[in-house]
Amino acid sequence: MSGLAAPIVVLRPLLPTSAEVLPFLNRIDATRIYSNYGPLCLEMQQGMARWLGAKAGVEGVRVVTASSGTTAIEIALRARALPGRRFCLMPSFTFIASAHAVCNAGLEPVLTDVEEGRFTLTPALAEAAMAELPEPPAAVLVVSAFGAPPDVAGWEAFEAKHGIPVVFDAAAAVTSLRRIGHQPLAVSLHATKVFGIGEGGAVITTDHALADRLVANTGFGFAGTERVSAERAGNYRISEYAAAVGLAVLAGIDAKEQRLLRLGQLYAEALRNSPCRLQQGAGTEWATMTLNVVIPRDRLEGSLARLDADGIQWRRWWGLGTHHHPAFRDLRRTALPVTEELAPRVIGLPFYEGLTEGEIARVAEALR
Ligand SMILES: *Cc1c(COP(=O)(O)O)cnc(C)c1O
Repeated sequence: MSGLAAPIVVLRPLLPTSAEVLPFLNRIDATRIYSNYGPLCLEMQQGMARWLGAKAGVEGVRVVTASSGTTAIEIALRARALPGRRFCLMPSFTFIASAHAVCNAGLEPVLTDVEEGRFTLTPALAEAAMAELPEPPAAVLVVSAFGAPPDVAGWEAFEAKHGIPVVFDAAAAVTSLRRIGHQPLAVSLHATKVFGIGEGGAVITTDHALADRLVANTGFGFAGTERVSAERAGNYRISEYAAAVGLAVLAGIDAKEQRLLRLGQLYAEALRNSPCRLQQGAGTEWATMTLNVVIPRDRLEGSLARLDADGIQWRRWWGLGTHHHPAFRDLRRTALPVTEELAPRVIGLPFYEGLTEGEIARVAEALR
């Protein structure tokens, strides 16, 4: 491949155009309501709940919007963590936001390893980690890797068995939730996620009492209409402008998911004979904005050099694991053999709407 070919960037988000958002903005001009769960915010929450419930075949889904995916995780943990306990199990291999959210919820992360195929913490790994702790954890934060559907049934069984509350960091998985239960699923609405509105997040649950508490948690702990703080909280609301973008996204979300799945299919076909494997199901069974390959150890250096030489941008979206970040180097952790072996080889490839088949062929060629 010629070194003169145009560079290919790793991700180019595509949000609704200003024309698509305008009808919703016009409604803000008319109501003069700009935040505090205004009509657009409520319509977005209810619209997302209907859409998610229909997709998962579940009734009574509630969606509570938040200022980011990180704050969505934080408030879900704060609401669910068992009082008087300090540890929160979480995988080391995740986007670093997970660790910030756990700490900001007042908990101490305990880093665990992940399962090789799906890059996730499993109930068995959590049980092994619990056996090493001096006391039971306050909660477990289970991360859905790059948008993979979380194992909700498995974690419901874990919670029933051990009485340890589970919260899902399903930040990138908003279009792949096949089961929704009482355990809160925190999602991100950041521009780089499938349901991108710019900045934003949401917690999804069928537990209405929990949802009401989360709403209070996003607005100074005010419960109901009284301006009285029932508990310590913060301001994690979204504005009506953010909700306007959210409603425009919602109107086109199924079509967007289909376009991303088509792109994933093209990639899977292009990489069929490559020695690199795609993350299980990524891009074809569920939509993602961050498509990763696992490159065999003996080909890693050569493959990355070929991508660089052809001007193809790549990224280790999650770096080498939480324990490699200076801010989190001192955390308690279990042995992390899979994370150490896997993380350096999980490489994010160019993936975005507008990527051409010719460009995908160039990426596949570099990974041959
Ligand atoms: C994107 C992401 C987050 C953070 O979401 P923000 O909306 O950027 O705060 C947290 N965890 C994971 C796994 C993510 O991919």
